Amino acid sequence: MSSTVIYLSYLVAAVLFILGIKNLTKPRTAVLGNRLSSIGMLIAVVVTLLDQNILSYEWIIAGLVLGGGIGAFMARTVQMTSMPQMVAMLNGFGGGASLFVALANVWDPVASAGIVADLSIGITILIGAVTLSGSFVAFAKLQELISGKPISVPGNTLLNGALVLVGLALIALSVTNPGETGYIYALVAVAVLLGLVLVLPIGGADMPVVIALLNSYSGIAAATAGFISGNTVLIISGSLVGASGLILTQIMCKAMNRSLPNVLFGVMAEGGETIDADEIYAGKVTASSPDEVGMMLETAERVIIVPGYGLAMAQAQHAVRELATVLEARGCDVKYAIHPVAGRMPGHMNVLLAEAEVPYEQLVEMDEINPQFEQADMAIVIGANDVTNPMAREDKGSPIYGMPILNVDKAKTVVVVKRSLSPGFAGLPNPLFAKDNALMLFGDGKKAIVDLTASLKEAEAA
Ligand code: NDP
Repeated sequence: MSSTVIYLSYLVAAVLFILGIKNLTKPRTAVLGNRLSSIGMLIAVVVTLLDQNILSYEWIIAGLVLGGGIGAFMARTVQMTSMPQMVAMLNGFGGGASLFVALANVWDPVASAGIVADLSIGITILIGAVTLSGSFVAFAKLQELISGKPISVPGNTLLNGALVLVGLALIALSVTNPGETGYIYALVAVAVLLGLVLVLPIGGADMPVVIALLNSYSGIAAATAGFISGNTVLIISGSLVGASGLILTQIMCKAMNRSLPNVLFGVMAEGGETIDADEIYAGKVTASSPDEVGMMLETAERVIIVPGYGLAMAQAQHAVRELATVLEARGCDVKYAIHPVAGRMPGHMNVLLAEAEVPYEQLVEMDEINPQFEQADMAIVIGANDVTNPMAREDKGSPIYGMPILNVDKAKTVVVVKRSLSPGFAGLPNPLFAKDNALMLFGDGKKAIVDLTASLKEAEAA
């Protein structure tokens, strides 16, 4: 194959990856984005296989059938609630694949040796092995194979720093002593250990942030693996994954009002212990009923639905869609407010609501929906708590002060659907529940919404 055709094909693949990622940023275009990226990857794989006679086609086809079959089975059978651990596992495989590309070049060098290739082998082994072991700890925590609670490792920070330094020293030794495989195996061991001690102390609930970070590492490992064999498309695709994973990690940290070191070293902000829930709620919480809320909805013209983790727990997405359909049939404008970290994984609410076929244009991101709460007759909060907590705006002493929230309390009336006054993930009381314009609709999210829809329909029929 002529090198011009190869480079042109790689260029097309790279453009498709970039367009794919661009389209993945909006729910409406996400499916197209996925397809474009897949076509790009197909072009990259086919051209690489035609260009380099690395393996016999029997092995390649066997690998394709086996890997593709397992992947298709997993994608079809995975529960939506198990998605984070599946992503963790796939990141681990990505890091592992880069690790083995590097090791294969140690055992049977195909690329021309040189300082860039040798350095790339060392860096790929370090990042690939960290990603592999770290991702499998994340998987085990989320799958509850081990405790999801932080598992403290004595002298964690010092140990991490020491392991990084030893890893870098081993890379330097392997580059200056090519052919000495002992340094390479020691590097693998140190990197695997580093992945374990990095992720073990992190609590299960912080895991999605760590998974986004490990996703970024798997991309960086792929990019450095591209330098080993001089494969430009691997360098480009790896860098794209590395950069987008880092951006996602950053967005999540910002939306949780936590710094990355805080997440990595399991530090929650201080101040929460001193806040007395009884003082905030005493005599100020108003409980309501589906009939009462149904009556109020009869005259509502603008309603904003605010989903959170409890919506996923209650599997109330279809019930919510049904309520919205009934409201819309009455001429009411219905929108959904999406907070970037509502739920327990990035895009959790988008995926759930898409499953119930909520039209994409009704899902409105936080910055765009916040100014609209003032015009809303009612905000219905379903199983969301922290992402609506006004302490983040008003209480400088609170651990979540500064976290961007959905300004649901600005709506004329706020109805909060949840089972009790228990706190959310951050463990803090929520003064929203005690506001004058707030009504609590206590109960399981799905049942409460089904009852509310029934009372609205009854009122219509009467
Ligand atoms: P929260 O965790 O703040 O609150 C969820 C609420 O849902 C709880 O207060 C609970 O109250 C209620 N709930 C649970 N089950 C049900 C049910 N069956 N029916 C009705 N309500 C139910 O969720 P948010 O979505 O508001 O916020 C997400 C939190 O998770 C944030 O603090 C975020 O930082 C954190 N986080 C998010 C990540 C992400 O990627 N999205 C990653 C890591 C952390 P009750 O028990 O009274 O019913």
